[in-house]
Amino acid sequence: MEDYKWFTSTEKEISTLKLKMGEDYSEYKLDWLLRATKRVSSLSDGCNNCTELQLEITKLVESLVAWPDISDEQRKNYKLKLNSIENHLRKHRSTGFGFGTGLIIVAIVIIAIIIIAVWQTCFPS
Ligand SMILES: [Zn+2]
Repeated sequence: MEDYKWFTSTEKEISTLKLKMGEDYSEYKLDWLLRATKRVSSLSDGCNNCTELQLEITKLVESLVAWPDISDEQRKNYKLKLNSIENHLRKHRSTGFGFGTGLIIVAIVIIAIIIIAVWQTCFPS
């Protein structure tokens, strides 16, 4: 319930920024940030990291209120933060594909065994 409230208020702030920032909106990847906001709020129940990311996102959105008075340093920092959010969300995604990754590893091991077996039959030492 609390997270839903956080999401809707963050969403509101981001859309206000969209109206204000025009082309800079995509420069700051706010569409992406909005999607990340949604994802973080749905994951924060079972993940401490995502709960921390909620605070990060709130701070990021607040920092954009100063736009266009944003220094290069701040802009660089902002993008670094976006990267760290992306990295964490990617971890959630990769655990979702755990089964597929497992199958690929099994396939590689089987192919390696076959190659070694064929190699040893062709060139017995
Ligand atoms: Zn998480």
